[in-house]
Amino acid sequence: MSTERTFIAIKPDGVQRGLVSSILSRFESRGYKLVGIKLVQANESLLREHYDDLQSKPFFPSLLSYMLSGPILATVWEGKDVVKQGRAILGATNPLQSAPGTIRGDFAIETGRNVAHGSDSVESANKEIALWFKKEELVEYKPALFGWIYE
Ligand code: UDP
Ligand code: MG
Repeated sequence: MSTERTFIAIKPDGVQRGLVSSILSRFESRGYKLVGIKLVQANESLLREHYDDLQSKPFFPSLLSYMLSGPILATVWEGKDVVKQGRAILGATNPLQSAPGTIRGDFAIETGRNVAHGSDSVESANKEIALWFKKEELVEYKPALFGWIYE
C-alpha cells in the first residue's frame, strides 16, 4: 500500500470555534492515520511560503491576516489516496458550494472563513509537510486497526 501523506490544517476560525475534534474525527473515522499534530501560531514568512502561488491574488492580504489571527492546528494524515480524499472530505473552497457532509459544507459559510486547509496534490502535500513539520515530528507506527481498514 502507498504511504501517501497529506497536510490538513484547522485554520484559526476552526480552532476558535471549537471545531478541532469534529474535524479531526472525520479523518480518524474514515480510517486515516494521524502521523503528526501540533498547534502553531504561524508567522508571515511561513504563510507566504505556504500560499506562495496565491501571493499576487487580490484576496492575499485578507488571507494573510485571517491565517495570522490565531493558532492553527497543523496535522499530517497518511493512507491510501489521502490527498484527494482529504480534499473531498473538506469540500469546495467556497463553503456555499460545498456539499452537506463535507467539513466546509457542514461548518462554514464564507470562503474567507472556511475553517480548514488540505493539500491539493501529492507534490504540494510534500512541500507543505516539509514546511510545517520537522522530520522527527512525524511518527511512524502501525495502527492496531490496520487490518480492519485495509484488505
Ligand atoms: N480564499 C479567499 N478568497 C478567494 C479564494 C481563496 O479568501 O477568493 C482563501 C480561502 O481561505 C482558501 C485559501 O484562500 O481556502 C486558499 O485558496 P485556494 O484557492 O488554494 O483554496 P483551497 O485549496 O483552500 O480550497
Ligand atoms: Mg489551495
